[in-house]
Amino acid sequence: MEKILIKLFVFVIGASTGSFLNVLIDRLPKEESINGRSHCDFCGKKLNWYDLFPVLSFFILKGRTRCCKKKLSFQYPIVEMITGGIYVLVFKDSPYIESLTRSVLILSILSSLIIIFISDLKYHLISDYILLALFVFSLLSKIVIPAEAGIQAIGLNVLSGLIVALPIFLIYHISKERAMGLGDVYLSAIMGFLLGWQKGFIALYISFVTGAIFGLIAIIFKNKKLKSKIAFGPFLVIGTVVMLFWGEKITEMIKKIYEF
Ligand SMILES: [Zn+2]
Repeated sequence: MEKILIKLFVFVIGASTGSFLNVLIDRLPKEESINGRSHCDFCGKKLNWYDLFPVLSFFILKGRTRCCKKKLSFQYPIVEMITGGIYVLVFKDSPYIESLTRSVLILSILSSLIIIFISDLKYHLISDYILLALFVFSLLSKIVIPAEAGIQAIGLNVLSGLIVALPIFLIYHISKERAMGLGDVYLSAIMGFLLGWQKGFIALYISFVTGAIFGLIAIIFKNKKLKSKIAFGPFLVIGTVVMLFWGEKITEMIKKIYEF
């Protein structure tokens, strides 16, 4: 019983964070102030505190605003539920301070990735602020997590970042920004820094494969709007998350298959 209560508590904290991520997702690309979601996006009326509960409010209000009955995006409850779920998963074995710091850093990295995923999908923009935040959290994780600390290790990570970003930079340069944006170049550099060059390249590979599968689906269903408007950032995020969680196992598997 106690365990379930703790999990519920962690989920609520995660979902509330998700609610804040929703604010960042919509306001960072437009460079708007991020001081809370206290006013209705449609009519500007002040919102009640009881309408700001993550997940619950959306379903109680049946997906519409209380003041002017405008339809709210499913993005809100989905991001809140996913963030809550991730918090429960990451916090499941963190009774010690050391791993608590580690968990907080991992959650900050994952939160930044959620913002990048949705805002690139929705606005085709990756805010420089969130890229900087992601880099700082990644750098802190290298300093705080003891096994990887040291100037030399960080130097190697910087090098990994440059190497992993190189193919994305070339595509960006050759396609004259049509296939990839500068945001994708920066994001791939942070991927290499965070994951190291081996896992970083595997993450890139996963991004290209999932991107290609999605592109094929768009072609099969002849959805031109989808086909011409696929941002690459969300696929980079998918590759990064897969390698963050299952990186060791996947790298081992690939080493075994190719025997190196
Ligand atoms: Zn309203």
